[in-house]
Amino acid sequence: MAFQSYSYVFKYIIVGDSAVGKSCLLLQFTDKRFKSTHDLTIGVEFGSRTVEVGDKSVKLQIWDTAGQESFRSITRSYYRGSIGALLVYDITQRQSFENLQKWMEEMKENAHSRMTIILVGNKTDLESERQVSYEEGQAFAKDNGLVFFETSAKCAYNVDKAFLSVTKDIYFNL
Ligand code: GDP
Repeated sequence: MAFQSYSYVFKYIIVGDSAVGKSCLLLQFTDKRFKSTHDLTIGVEFGSRTVEVGDKSVKLQIWDTAGQESFRSITRSYYRGSIGALLVYDITQRQSFENLQKWMEEMKENAHSRMTIILVGNKTDLESERQVSYEEGQAFAKDNGLVFFETSAKCAYNVDKAFLSVTKDIYFNL
């Protein structure tokens, strides 16, 4: 059959500072590709992939802010209907970690109160440039009740795991 059937559709959003690797995480998860340029496409990028959880197929629709972060124009409509979020920082950019609290507040203001958030420290392949330790990421996640993964969108390290983990959390708490 040429069509794919699925039992659920989950909408996810990806938030975090510019250049932390949000669109690369999306591209790696949906297309198994990596792009080395940072193009500030205006508008929200979108990707989808269907995964199996339990004995069901779940279609994940994932929205990326695509360069809109600096304009503070991520509006309620972006958050609307989203059941999960990846909150991303770059382990080689301390400031992107310092800004996590601001992103948590923004999400609390705009998102569904039961949205599942997963913290992602990206770019582990750049270990020699690391500015945020694994333990710091873990501590922030613990304080805020989030699941935590370090990833590399470049090496596809933990990318599937992060998306699948949030999907399982949501699915088994439906
Ligand atoms: P966004 O603004 O958060 O969507 O960031 P992008 O996905 O456009 O990535 C910003 C830059 O970081 C680009 O040059 C990417 O190639 C690079 N990048 C993203 N993820 C990784 C990663 O895991 N490792 C490395 N070394 N570079 C990455």
